[in-house]
Amino acid sequence: MVHCFNNICYRGKNQVRIAWGITGSGHLLLETFETMKDIVKLGKHTVSIFLSKAGEEVARMYGILSDLRKLANGPLPLRFVRDLEQGASSPTCGKFNLKAFPVLFVGPATANTVAKIKVGIADTLVTNTVAMAVKGGVRVIILPSDYVPGPITTTLPVTVKTTEKSTCQDAAGKFTCNPCQAVDECPTHAISIIDGKPFVDLTKCIGCQRCVKCCKGQIFEFGKKITIRIRQVDAENSRALEKLEGIKLIGHPREFEKWLMSQD
Ligand code: SF4
Repeated sequence: MVHCFNNICYRGKNQVRIAWGITGSGHLLLETFETMKDIVKLGKHTVSIFLSKAGEEVARMYGILSDLRKLANGPLPLRFVRDLEQGASSPTCGKFNLKAFPVLFVGPATANTVAKIKVGIADTLVTNTVAMAVKGGVRVIILPSDYVPGPITTTLPVTVKTTEKSTCQDAAGKFTCNPCQAVDECPTHAISIIDGKPFVDLTKCIGCQRCVKCCKGQIFEFGKKITIRIRQVDAENSRALEKLEGIKLIGHPREFEKWLMSQD
């Protein structure tokens, strides 16, 4: 049965209509995507995605942007909301005042987004959704990308292996892999050759991994793990959100899934 409220139509009374904000963090993005897939697969709840400008760029370079769009199954017209299409006032956020969603999950939330929420700034689609959701009495759950200070392991999109001498060159440093097959294969012209080595412009990359598959020298890599350090200031900002009204923090997207199960 279809129910409608404030021009928002949805199925079934026990269904949780999830508003899911995504910002421009590569850390925990793929884990978040897997969690979202599992939640949608349950066939019970719906997911409406609210994508920041940086979130859209980062989702594209990790190769999940079109899958995110396909996965979103929330009520129209609030199924896949892009900051790029919302203008400065993000009028869609007003729906949170009208309780179009019982819960807003923001994950991953960058240190930049967290810092803005901490001081009450609401000048982007996702920070505005948080402000409107709290004002409207909607449950807000946030997954900060920078939560606990110290080292973390994170996953990169496409990188070019940095070696003393690239595998594109012979022992004498002569550029042998010419023309570069990856340059030809790349559908978005994101690869250029600089000083005999490939360079990937991540603002153009769609994470398709064709370069990884075609390069005989295996110089391209997708999903490389690196260790970075969470700054004290970012972790402190995250902790400060715990003291704000109406906001709950979690450390991993699977905790959101568990919270959802506990609502049954
Ligand atoms: S071929 Fe490589 S660099 Fe080009 S879009 Fe695909 S993943 Fe990105």
